[in-house]
Amino acid sequence: MSTEITCIVCPKSCIIRADAAGNIVETGDCPKGKQYAAEEIRDPRRVFTSTVWVDWGMVARVPVRTSKPIKKGDWKKAAQAIARLRAEAPIRFKQILVNDFLEEGIDLVATRPIEGRPSGPCRPKRVSK
Ligand code: SF4
Repeated sequence: MSTEITCIVCPKSCIIRADAAGNIVETGDCPKGKQYAAEEIRDPRRVFTSTVWVDWGMVARVPVRTSKPIKKGDWKKAAQAIARLRAEAPIRFKQILVNDFLEEGIDLVATRPIEGRPSGPCRPKRVSK
């Protein structure tokens, strides 16, 4: 049985076919597609996005993403870890909220700034797990 993989490296969306053993039998229009398909078969990864609770912010949650793609098999673990997090406003755009999130060298970063509430406490920023 063969597997079809749609290359998402560029908008052309070439179809790449692999056999049951994971060998690529039909490539897309450029070498990037073959490399993408090989990684997709061997170790599928995606950038993980979610939101984290914010204390003392003008909004209740801050959108976050991993700084690099993580294993698709780790998504549940990532969602559970993020559900336990609380960040404290103010938060800067691209501020690292967690270093080495699930894997060494992959951080969890904020994707928008969050202003602190004027009535919030004057405390140093921290992230609790
Ligand atoms: S194989 Fe190359 S041309 Fe085709 S979608 Fe992938 S990157 Fe684009």
